[in-house]
Amino acid sequence: MSLPLDARQLAARFDSVFGSAPDGVWQAPGRVNLIGEHTDYNEGFVLPFAIDRTARVAVRLRPDAGIRLLSTFGNQGLTTADAGSLARGTARGWTKYPLGVLWALQQCGLPVRGLDLLLDSDVPRGAGLSSSHAIECAVISAFNELSGAGLEVQDMVLATQRAENDFVGAPTGIMDQSASLRGAAGHALFLDCRDQRVRLVPFDAEGAGLVLLVIDTKVSHSHADGGYASRRAACELGAEVLGVKALRDVGLEDLEEASGLLDPVTFRRVRHVVTENERVLRTVGLLESTGPAAIGPLLDASHASMRDDFEISCPELDLAVEAARSAGALGARMTGGGFGGSAIALTPASAEQGVRAAVEHAFAAAGYTAPAIFRVRPAAGAMRLA
Ligand code: ADP
Ligand code: MG
Repeated sequence: MSLPLDARQLAARFDSVFGSAPDGVWQAPGRVNLIGEHTDYNEGFVLPFAIDRTARVAVRLRPDAGIRLLSTFGNQGLTTADAGSLARGTARGWTKYPLGVLWALQQCGLPVRGLDLLLDSDVPRGAGLSSSHAIECAVISAFNELSGAGLEVQDMVLATQRAENDFVGAPTGIMDQSASLRGAAGHALFLDCRDQRVRLVPFDAEGAGLVLLVIDTKVSHSHADGGYASRRAACELGAEVLGVKALRDVGLEDLEEASGLLDPVTFRRVRHVVTENERVLRTVGLLESTGPAAIGPLLDASHASMRDDFEISCPELDLAVEAARSAGALGARMTGGGFGGSAIALTPASAEQGVRAAVEHAFAAAGYTAPAIFRVRPAAGAMRLA
């Protein structure tokens, strides 16, 4: 991947494409979910962090309703649209995300004018790091400030959710954009998906002599596919049979009784959600009391639960996790929706090269496509750059 453009370079590129300087440049990060998978739609807990990979947009509002969009990636050329006639099902490729945000703001009753926008991003796409929300959060931050809309962060969280759900057609929750908008360097974001309360939790891996590696298996996933929908359906069925509003309301102590009430597959889906919620709470407790080096076993247990109970892993993810752990990672797990995407490995800095080599070697020996392995740091949320 080519080096990301900094704010000055992006503004200069904007000027040469659109003929004058942008009003400003904003950025928003992708995210890694440290722990808490498939808990969001069960009104449970998640613990993502914003990463030091961002989408950046240079934007200028226009006096008319015209919209012109260009990205530094691909060869799609300029996309034009009209703020007066945004409609579902009309946008293609990455332009779904900025247009979806503008559409969602209109649905909220805000007047949306036209704009010119140039996008650059170094968030790997389709790797489970939420490159789509990085774009949406950069765009909504820019629009909010330039238009004087005065949206609170939570308004922006809900508007980007609406863009993803109703315009893009991806049934996602609020985790990704919450991390992208609210993240802070050296911290993870503890999010209660029931009441949407948030708390920053210290997660300074580097300060503890650790690195957080992302292992992108390059196996493609799609949230819209049947696996995701069937897991949601199993959770809904489990909650209904157990007589609770959401699986959030089921505790570890309820599992024994639940096993007698549910069919075996639904029971295992429920057990994943219940134990995963517990692991998030324990991870938060350990980060606040002891530090990042203590959470490895919880990451490992999370992976085992997704592999065996929720059944959303795949051979490449399992291999990445196994190879990383046997080369000295303190803990490793798949992250994101599953069926591909990325794993994370919390690794002592001294073992980083060994872990990288072990994973690469294991993939080559298995005949898999070479993975991309890179470090991520817990980084700041969306902000204006220029
Ligand atoms: P994720 O959000 O997990 O990365 P999605 O499928 O939700 O995966 O979003 C990926 C889509 O976002 C791509 O198909 C593309 O349309 C768009 N996209 C985001 N970043 C980039 C990029 N740097 N280059 C090209 N397309 C991108
Ligand atoms: Mg996405």
